[in-house]
Amino acid sequence: MSKPIVAVVGRPNVGKSTLFNTLAGERISIVQDTPGVTRDRIYAEVSWLNYNFTLIDTGGIEPDSKDVILSQMREQAQIAIDTADVIMFLVDVRQGLQDADGKVADMLRRSNKPVVLVVNKVDDFDKYMPDVYEFYNLGIGEPFPVSASSKLGLGDMLDEVVKHFPPESNEEEEDDRPRVAIIGKPNVGKSSLVNKLAQKDRVIVSNIAGTTRDAIDTEIRYNGKDYILIDTAGIRRKNKIKEEIERFSIIRAVTAVERADVVLLVIDATEGVTEQDAKIAGIAHERGKGIIICVNKWDAVEKNNDSVKEYTQKIRQILSFMPYAEILFISALTGQRLPKIFETMDAVIENNSMRVGTGVLNEIVAEAVAMQQPPTDKGKRLKIYYITQVAVKPPTFVIFVNDKNLMHFSYTRYLENRIRDTFGFAGTSLKFIVRERK
Ligand code: GDP
Ligand code: GDP
Repeated sequence: MSKPIVAVVGRPNVGKSTLFNTLAGERISIVQDTPGVTRDRIYAEVSWLNYNFTLIDTGGIEPDSKDVILSQMREQAQIAIDTADVIMFLVDVRQGLQDADGKVADMLRRSNKPVVLVVNKVDDFDKYMPDVYEFYNLGIGEPFPVSASSKLGLGDMLDEVVKHFPPESNEEEEDDRPRVAIIGKPNVGKSSLVNKLAQKDRVIVSNIAGTTRDAIDTEIRYNGKDYILIDTAGIRRKNKIKEEIERFSIIRAVTAVERADVVLLVIDATEGVTEQDAKIAGIAHERGKGIIICVNKWDAVEKNNDSVKEYTQKIRQILSFMPYAEILFISALTGQRLPKIFETMDAVIENNSMRVGTGVLNEIVAEAVAMQQPPTDKGKRLKIYYITQVAVKPPTFVIFVNDKNLMHFSYTRYLENRIRDTFGFAGTSLKFIVRERK
């Protein structure tokens, strides 16, 4: 199930970050050892009642002159229109209705995307309500008064947001063709790779029904098998500011990964693996997708016998949170190892939805426990009663133990490695849930 995407748009200082932090709370970082994700809050997972969605803050830098503010806001709004299922348009009751708000409202209205108008800083409903009505003039419907900092009005606002979510079982869910997202920093060769993969056979470009986003996906066929490349090139923006480019490449990656079964993370071999690559990789890791690291532009690297080994080591070191990821050395330019990409994708997709039997799983774990005693604390030893797989995409296991606090990260890692030794699961993360049974 791909989660709906909600984007927040608004002028600087209306309270976007505050609202974002209030809604996302502690859920903002899921995996502690994924770099980048805790530091800049560009996106976060939010749960409201039975709904889960991804919240995106499209606003980045804070420009100082009025003209720049408007052009930046248009840019933000366009990103929101291109990527979101629902747009939250945030305004500030204290500053009142501003010119730029009106212009952005026009743009949002024309997009036909669902827009929820949120009037922030209404810390006192009696006092500020009369000023809230002014925002009806924007022509995008009922304004929802909230106070992001005092956590007021958020329930009504969220009720309105989730009302606009696409129906759950849409065509995208029924379509069993694997969906592939190609992500990476700017200029690593994503477009070149899309073109190269698509060119293998006849390309049909179509707007796939069942999504409310404007992504134009590409259907490709290889060896008689169909795949869908989730295209993010269509939402490419021209932007000269470096921070904005980075922010946008993260937003693009989040929205594409959300819908994907397998992710091709493209890295530029001539540049080596960087912190920014790690941030983008973290997005796919957090969501438990199948991952293939494509070291692109391999044609342009001066190589010796150790090159592959050295590159692999470097990648494993910087992307240490995803040791399971597959690595391929490719060239989008020459087409080097293209068949290998398809072959690996098939295997990774299969591993990402593989189920293993409870019997054999418990045998493996019992053997592992016999080989390496579980940890103890203050004389009490961890006991593992039972393990079972409860979900796929990613494969998720529940381990029943006597005392949760005794289950250390390193022992989970150890069990994971034994399970991987037996069943493979290459290219996919595994999730472990530890439960107590008295
Ligand atoms: P952003 O630039 O849109 O991300 O705005 P921020 O979240 O950084 O907020 C700008 C300022 O408005 C900060 O000083 C916040 O403390 C303040 N602020 C945010 N939400 C509220 C609110 O609900 N009530 C009041 N009184 N101040 C708020
Ligand atoms: P994107 O921004 O990630 O979509 O990157 P592009 O596909 O636009 O490629 C950026 C630049 O890298 C272009 O000049 C490409 O021609 C070049 N490029 C892409 N793939 C390769 C490759 O495999 N080898 C070489 N030598 N250059 C490449």
